[in-house]
Amino acid sequence: MKKKIKAIFTNKWLRYLILLLVFMGVISYLFWGPLFPWNPFKIGYQKIESSKATVYISDLTEKDSVVYRVDEMLREEEQFHSLNYVDDFKIFILDKDSDIRRFLPWLRSPGYSVSLSLVNVIYIGPMARKSQTGIEPILKHELSHLLIDQNTTFAKALKIHGQGWLTEGIAEYYSGRSFYGKSEFFTLAKMNDLYFTSLYEKNPLKMSTEEVKLKYAYYRYFVEFLVENYGMEKLQDYLKRYIDNPDAYKDYFVEVYAMNLDDILQKYKTSFEE
Ligand SMILES: [Zn+2]
Repeated sequence: MKKKIKAIFTNKWLRYLILLLVFMGVISYLFWGPLFPWNPFKIGYQKIESSKATVYISDLTEKDSVVYRVDEMLREEEQFHSLNYVDDFKIFILDKDSDIRRFLPWLRSPGYSVSLSLVNVIYIGPMARKSQTGIEPILKHELSHLLIDQNTTFAKALKIHGQGWLTEGIAEYYSGRSFYGKSEFFTLAKMNDLYFTSLYEKNPLKMSTEEVKLKYAYYRYFVEFLVENYGMEKLQDYLKRYIDNPDAYKDYFVEVYAMNLDDILQKYKTSFEE
């Protein structure tokens, strides 16, 4: 037996054949898994095209009719952010946890939705599909991330996501969803010693689910506070400066809102107490 195995590895052609099979196996795995967006055969997925985005969806139902309004959604996103989509992109709407594990094996939880801006791909995870409100709010959220990332460099996009507060706040506010109602959030903030003193927070991927929910509500209502008190144009102006230099976010508060961060956060806190 040992001799036979040895003979296989000493035979030049057999060695090439084995190498070729291993290589083909790796390639097939990649195109079946993480490289699926570039697989020409997307079996099990229906394709719906619009001007900038191509949607791939499994098990399309009436609940998912938003996929036929993608062009309109993109126009609204552009207007809200005062930015334009630069590159074409793909949106995958998944039905099974096993599919998201297959495509994004590095994700901690298989239910999530994510925007992979560097490669212009959005995944809408199974949790969004199972939610009461359907996929629309989550799709709006991820489209906001992609739009912002397409208008900055990769290094800055990484920094922006590491800070999280502005882009998650905008995405949550724009999507119209919230993990908590306003007064519920304020009560929870007090119970969890959230002091309304800092915005530079850790990467959402490093937070627990409870922390994500609380912080996202904090950021979301902060963006709402800025819009309601100082208007959309100021927020759009702030966003443009921020994506150009996310490190200078404190200075931009002074430039755009004529107030420093501590004062503006204090006002934000007070708005809950009124
Ligand atoms: Zn997000």
